[in-house]
Amino acid sequence: MKCNKCDEKAIIKIPYANIALCKNHFSEWLEHRLERVAKKYNMLDGVNRVGVAVSGGKDSTTLLHLMYNLSKIYGFELVGINIDLGIDMGKGYSSKSTEFAVKNFEMLGIRYKVVRVKEQYGFTIDEAKHKIRRPVCSTCGLVKRYTLNDIAEKEGLDTIATGHNLNDMAQFILSGYFSGDVLDLSRLKPVSPPEKGYKVKKIKPLFLIYEKEILTYALVNKIPFIYDSCPHTFRVGGATQDKIRRKLEEMEDEIPGFMLMLVQNFIDKIQKPLEKEYVKEDEVSKCKICGRPTSKGRDICSFCATRISMGVLSEARGK
Ligand SMILES: [Zn+2]
Ligand SMILES: [Zn+2]
Repeated sequence: MKCNKCDEKAIIKIPYANIALCKNHFSEWLEHRLERVAKKYNMLDGVNRVGVAVSGGKDSTTLLHLMYNLSKIYGFELVGINIDLGIDMGKGYSSKSTEFAVKNFEMLGIRYKVVRVKEQYGFTIDEAKHKIRRPVCSTCGLVKRYTLNDIAEKEGLDTIATGHNLNDMAQFILSGYFSGDVLDLSRLKPVSPPEKGYKVKKIKPLFLIYEKEILTYALVNKIPFIYDSCPHTFRVGGATQDKIRRKLEEMEDEIPGFMLMLVQNFIDKIQKPLEKEYVKEDEVSKCKICGRPTSKGRDICSFCATRISMGVLSEARGK
């Protein structure tokens, strides 16, 4: 198989675009594609200082390198962010992840911040798993959201980019239809405006890029990343979620471009009417402990409430 653009050997076939590309032409193609997507969805409008959330996996490390290229073209500042969640499970998962994230930050010579949740907030995700009744992945999501908003505020970031890829989006959409989670679906966007009370917007630059393409880009460009996935993830939605993901991949094999159509049509045609129907503008109150925004009628935010349940914060302590 030869590259469509030169005489080199093709390393990847992109069936939905009906092309095969060599190493260099594939990298160039993906970089252009990302730039086109970012422009089409106005991801970089008014952007000055962007934080990239890097877990150390293939998606977020590739995103970091792609955003680095864009920062040179569009002249915005880049800050690397890694959250050490304290997930060990006998495998040292978090510490290895942080190592890979830092390796990439230093490789590119960009400013970065590592937040160690244990040091900063007094507990680890592993500890929360045993002590808190809610599923561990939902606690983890809460911790990540809170920490990212907090760093954005402290570092003066106007934008945070995360590494959700096309396969993640397709899986989320299909399982949202399946379970009727209209509120979650109506909030799924490539560019999310700031949460009430915050100033930072969140973008998902990889949302139309296939997992396979990201992996290929990481490999051919020798981006260091951690292969292990979180030791807790097998619990997210359990076997059903896995099956939905695998079925989507099978559909993709039979109908090239299936996931792309599913996600692009959802975002371009379905999400907005859903948002209009289901998302209500909520008023916010101020958490009496940390001062951050919380839902109206609550005086303690769910993050501080979690810290209280973990026994690392007392309700009377105030700030
Ligand atoms: Zn070529
Ligand atoms: Zn709070």
